[in-house]
Amino acid sequence: MFALHGTGIGGGIVVGRAVVLESRLIDVPRYRVEFAMRLAETSRLARAVETVRAELRAIAEHLPADAPSEAQALLQVHAMILDDPSLAPQATVAIESHGQNAEWAFASQAEHLAAQFEQFEDPYLRERGRDVTQVADRVLKALSGSGRALRTRVPGEVPLIFVAHDVSPADMLQLKHAGGFAIDLGGTASHTAILARSMNVPAVVGLGHASQMVRDDDWLVLDGESGVLVVAPDESVLDEYRHRMALGLLERKQLSRLVNVPSATIDGVPIELHANIELPAEAEQAREAGAAGVGLFRTEFLFMNRAELPGEDEQFEAYRAAVLGMRGRPVTIRTLDIGADKSLDSSDDTQGPAAAPNPALGRRAIRYSLAEPDVFLEQLRAILRAAEHGPVRLLIPMLAHGHEVDQSLRLIAQARAQLVDRLGRDMPPVPVGGMIEVPAAALTAPFFARRLDFLSIGTNDLVQYTLAIDRADHAVASLYDPFHPAVLQLVAQTIRAGERAGKPVAVCGEMAGDLEATRLLIGMGLRSFSMHPASLLRVKREILRCDAGRLRARVARLLAADDPVKVRSGLERLRDA
Ligand code: PEP
Ligand code: MG
Repeated sequence: MFALHGTGIGGGIVVGRAVVLESRLIDVPRYRVEFAMRLAETSRLARAVETVRAELRAIAEHLPADAPSEAQALLQVHAMILDDPSLAPQATVAIESHGQNAEWAFASQAEHLAAQFEQFEDPYLRERGRDVTQVADRVLKALSGSGRALRTRVPGEVPLIFVAHDVSPADMLQLKHAGGFAIDLGGTASHTAILARSMNVPAVVGLGHASQMVRDDDWLVLDGESGVLVVAPDESVLDEYRHRMALGLLERKQLSRLVNVPSATIDGVPIELHANIELPAEAEQAREAGAAGVGLFRTEFLFMNRAELPGEDEQFEAYRAAVLGMRGRPVTIRTLDIGADKSLDSSDDTQGPAAAPNPALGRRAIRYSLAEPDVFLEQLRAILRAAEHGPVRLLIPMLAHGHEVDQSLRLIAQARAQLVDRLGRDMPPVPVGGMIEVPAAALTAPFFARRLDFLSIGTNDLVQYTLAIDRADHAVASLYDPFHPAVLQLVAQTIRAGERAGKPVAVCGEMAGDLEATRLLIGMGLRSFSMHPASLLRVKREILRCDAGRLRARVARLLAADDPVKVRSGLERLRDA
């Protein structure tokens, strides 16, 4: 028995048997082809490419209705790579002039192209190198003629956990009944991770050498929450995880009964629970979890992994899909929050040779939008148009200065005027809110509360900027403490500023879904939470058990503490309030 550690993508725990998917690029046959046979060899390659083209088309045409919305786009990326002039045409030249066999010629070109992508600083462009490898894998499979049939689980049998160096999104879509995915490569923003998350099965990426260390049919335990893969677990470990799985299932069943229970404390204080989504299709998951609305739609994911920015119409379709998906419940659409760890492409000057000295403190979020008013106006028009289809709220990320509010409001008015002009009708009103995620904004929250319709506290960034801890840096991860008294005081001040100005305040960072923070935030006066839909019912269960009046007094005492250790013990004591 041994365990491997990677990055958990979520989806719970699964105990099952391994299916190791080998990569064809690793062991490519290489031999010389006689001159007389070279024409036949080039035709063999052309047939394989055509087979793959047809395969990708067939997968795209037969996508199940419930396939993630981004699946079509991913298949298009693969089709484009397949037609890249540096692949098959160059491989054909290598066959004709150097006598390389088709596998050798194609694999070499693919390796070359993938290596070019890997040189990019930008993590999203680097990911495209993986797409090249995945496409090449398919062509090599077609060349070998073996047609690796992807095994799927026969319902009722032991779940199959797919272990791979990498899985292409196209292959992943064929593994509809997968019990889980354990993948060597990748980070949380890879296509594979994005798809795994929307498929809602346990998945762990970034496992290193799992595909070499695991054998077909090995028993595995895959924990998508903690990012652990246990290989050949002994009976006691298996029992332990089976027990945890059963408890997880039971809990989910019990929690599902809370979907329609109104969210309120014992003393009758209503608490709104909203969902955070990254893609429009997740609106459905939000609604199923009983979310009162979408509290944060991170629109930047529509802008990533692509050659060109989405235009107004494409954005409008995406925002409208989320609005329609929520069936009348409000959708809070955050304007583009790129920069720092979320860059668009290599031309973004927060990356690459002209990289800002410290991207997290650089031109990100609203700073980017104000520096690129045409991009901003396009997005604002798309959002305002979506508001004709249901209630929409607009949220501006990372405000710190008053003039950023003025400029944003001016540009929103301009986008509205452009639409009125173009469409010849008025647009519905859209409340405009600001994210409080920089200490400067929290300290001057009364100003932002006066100027805006609502506030939303982004604790992920607020913690990072208050404690000077890069949220993406593992080396300082242990110092990232959302319960540091300095952070708590900033959160409490912001909530108070909203109360005084009569403006709603929400928390939409990870803290909102953290059960340890629920009582504390209610005691601070928070009445609106926004979190990943998977956490929502657990937080609701906690809310149903607490007394807002009693918490208010206790939390006021806790906030007086300036010692992080005392805050922790104070948190423990909130459990019985
Ligand atoms: C936050 O900073 O808390 C937040 C919700 O925004 P993001 O995680 O997208 O930066
Ligand atoms: Mg943020």
